[in-house]
This record gives sequence, structure tokens and C-alpha cells, in this order.
Amino acid sequence: MLLLLKLNEVSDLYDLIIIGSGPAGSVAGITAARLGLKTLILEKDKKGRDKFCGGGITYGVEKFLREHVSKEISETIEIRVDGFIIFSPKGRELIVRFGEELKEYGGLVRRLVFDKKLMEIAESEGAELKEKKTVVDIKKKKEDVVVRTLDGNKYKGRYIILANGVQDKLGKKAGLPPLRIEQLGGCWGTEYPYDMNSLFKFWSNRISKPIFLFFGIVPVGYGWIFPKKQHLNIGIGTNLKNFRDHKKKFQNFIEIAKNAEVLPKNLKINYDRAWLIPFGDIPRKKTYSIEYKLLATGDAAGFVHPVTGEGLYGAVHGGALAAKIIRKALDYDDPKILREYENLWWKEFGEDMFYYGKKIAKMLYRNRFAMEIGIKMIMCDKECVKRLSYLISHYNNTVTKKFYEQISGLRLFSLMLKSIKVPMRMVYEV
Ligand SMILES: Cc1cc2nc3c(=O)[nH]c(=O)nc-3n(C[C@H](O)[C@H](O)[C@H](O)COP(=O)(O)OP(=O)(O)OC[C@H]3O[C@@H](n4cnc5c(N)ncnc54)[C@H](O)[C@@H]3O)c2cc1C
Repeated sequence: MLLLLKLNEVSDLYDLIIIGSGPAGSVAGITAARLGLKTLILEKDKKGRDKFCGGGITYGVEKFLREHVSKEISETIEIRVDGFIIFSPKGRELIVRFGEELKEYGGLVRRLVFDKKLMEIAESEGAELKEKKTVVDIKKKKEDVVVRTLDGNKYKGRYIILANGVQDKLGKKAGLPPLRIEQLGGCWGTEYPYDMNSLFKFWSNRISKPIFLFFGIVPVGYGWIFPKKQHLNIGIGTNLKNFRDHKKKFQNFIEIAKNAEVLPKNLKINYDRAWLIPFGDIPRKKTYSIEYKLLATGDAAGFVHPVTGEGLYGAVHGGALAAKIIRKALDYDDPKILREYENLWWKEFGEDMFYYGKKIAKMLYRNRFAMEIGIKMIMCDKECVKRLSYLISHYNNTVTKKFYEQISGLRLFSLMLKSIKVPMRMVYEV
């Protein structure tokens, strides 16, 4: 009886309860704590949990985190990338070496290290993090909101941030339409342990530490090979319609990578993990609820770039904005302020990411033929290559627009003409 009473007890009142401590939840927690909010983060897993991810930290993500979170984040970068190599469906190769500017930030991390660091910073800033707490319900209680965890505990907050990732089931309760099938994609792949120094030597006639992107592996999306310190991160990402025949598609990808001399011929690699990603007609149609005093951010809001699949930028920038809006709503004692969140994220990164991103995705991911033509067009034009490099690096929040402008309108026709004679391999330095 005593135990039951204890289980049903509601916690003290928090200004903010954040559900999920991935990058979006942790950055929201760091921002909120620094703004003086009594903040609780509830995480279903534990500190140091892993997430299947390429771990590509763009220039934009590292810069944002260094400026708004902590310079310590750079310590989590395992490999500094010095360029990228794109393969077209027909095996054309675009090799781009980064100059000093693009090398300044960005690289590859292991998510268990990167996410743990952000959680630790959140705690050191004063946010309270509770691990092994799966939130299963959200209820309104007069002016406040009560969340219930799987172990029966209840936590009361004045505001909520949903940062529980792509599989969110809680937003629906607060009237946020869930991510539909057309807004979801899937990834599958592996982390293959390898003596990476030998591979860096093997690749050095092109670029020694590039990321590789292979188009044509799936009709929509791409395959990637990202080098880490002690392993290769290999995967394929596509929309849900094409999220099948995993084994066959993966083996085909590995063979293509071997023939392109990216992987040594003797490697036997199988996929062993898969995860969902917001992809396609994103973001989520609504990201706030005044009634439930709640904002959604990161994957739970669908903040993933529709061309590159980069989700960490939307997670960290979105998380910070959500916390700032909640601070304002508390200051004015007016939950209606939450409405401003959508204008804010749209202005700061959404228009570039989603309005222009979806236009490019529509052109590039139409079919294999469109991918081939698109890559040929980019390969033949130095300005296109430069803008693509800035887009892949998320150099700033107009990169998608700038890239779109370079490949659309009248330019499209001149690029098409120019691309007729593009060779099988082009090398650039940007
Ligand atoms: C295979 C793959 C490769 C990718 N590669 C890249 C890449 O290279 N670069 C890039 O920028 N993006 C990449 N992404 C996207 C990126 O991983 C996500 O966009 C990013 O993790 C989103 O962060 P988040 O904090 O919103 O969600 P998550 O990182 O998913 O964190 C959500 C957290 O919420 C917790 N949680 C869930 N439900 C509950 C609950 N009910 N109660 C309490 N806690 C809960 C989870 O345990 C988790 O810790 C990739 C995605 C995939 C699937």
C-alpha cells in the first residue's frame, strides 16, 4: 500500500520536462537550464546509449554547438573529413577536396560518445537527467502537464518538449498529427571494425579521409561509407516504399563499392542493424500544442534535411529554439506564445531545409536517370560543386536555396548542355 502511494506520487513542479535525451533533448535541456528553467530530462535508455547513425557532424552542426553549447563538443570528433566522393548510378566519380575553410569544422563521431557528452553538459548546466524512464502518457492537469513513466512515476511540469525521436507516439495525444508513411524513411547497414590506417592509405590517391556517397543504390536516397577511427560505418537510406530487400540491396552496394575501389575485394560485410528516419514530405505538420503546453523538436518534429538526410542540425538548432520559446512563454505567462515556435524554426532553418530541400529532392530522387543527369550537371560546373559542398557541409542556413538557384531556371538548360561531355571522373578543390 505504501509502495503504491509512493508510485502514484507526483513530483515537484518543473518549469520544463523534456522527453528524450538525444541531441535535440540535451541541447534543449542545456539551453533551458542556462535560461534559468528548472528542467527535467526523462530518457528511456541510459547515458552512453548508442543510436544507429552515420555520425556525420557537418560544419554547421559543430559550429552551432561550439557557439551555443560548448567548445568541448569538438573533443568527440573521431575523424576530420577532408572531402567527399560521390558516385553516380553509372559509376561517374566526383571527387571534392575541402580547402582550409570547409576543413575548419565538421567530422565524424560515434553517437554513443557524442550524445553522452551532450547529456553530461546538460547535467553540468543544472538540468536533472533521469535515465531508464520511458514516458508512456501525458495528461493535462489544470495549468500544468503530468507525464507518466512506465515504472508508474509521475512528473509535473509547466511545459513539455517532445524530443523522443522519429518513433514518437506521445504527440498524438496533444493533437500533433503523427509522421505519416510519406514522411518516413528507413536506413540499414553496419559498423564494420577495420584497421582504418590501411584504408586511409588505400584511399590516399583520391582523398585520404573522405565520406563516400553512392547514388543509384536505391531509387530514392543513397548509400554511404563513413570512416571512423576503428570501423567503417556503412549504410543505405531510402523512403519506406523502398525499405525492403535489405540483404540483396546491401550486398549489391558492397559489390559496387569494391568495384569502385573504395572497399578491398576480400571484405565480407553484412548489414546487421536498421532504424527509421524522418524523410520525404517533412517536417511534421504541427510542432506545438498550446493546450498541452508542448513543443516537438528534432526527429519528433521531422527536422531532417530531405536531400542529405542530415538530422543533427535540425535536432540541435530546433532543441535550442524550443527552450527559448518556452522561456518566453513563462516570462509572459502566456502559453499562446508557443505559436511563435513554428515561425521561428521556419525562419531560422526550415525554409532553407524544407522548401528548397524538397524542390531539390523532387529533381534528384525522381529516378536513376534523373540522378545520373543531376550528378553529371553538377560535375561539369565548378560553382555547382562549390554550392553542393556547402550544402553537404551545412555551411549556413541559405545553402540549400543557393544550391537550388544554381541548378534551376535557365541555368538548368545550360548545365544540361554542358554536361553532355562530362568525363567519368572529375576532381575539384573547394
Ligand atoms: C542510419 C542513420 C544514419 C544517420 N546519419 C546521420 C548523419 O550522418 N548525420 C546527421 O546529421 N544525421 C544523421 N541521421 C539522423 C540523426 O540520427 C537524427 O536526426 C538525430 O538522431 C535526431 O536527434 P533527436 O535527438 O531528435 O532523436 P534521437 O537521437 O532519436 O533521440 C531520441 C531520444 O529519445 C529517447 N526516447 C524515445 N522515446 C522515449 C520515451 N517514450 N520516453 C523517454 N525517452 C524516449 C530515445 O531513447 C533517445 O535517446 C541518421 C539517421 C539514421 C537512422
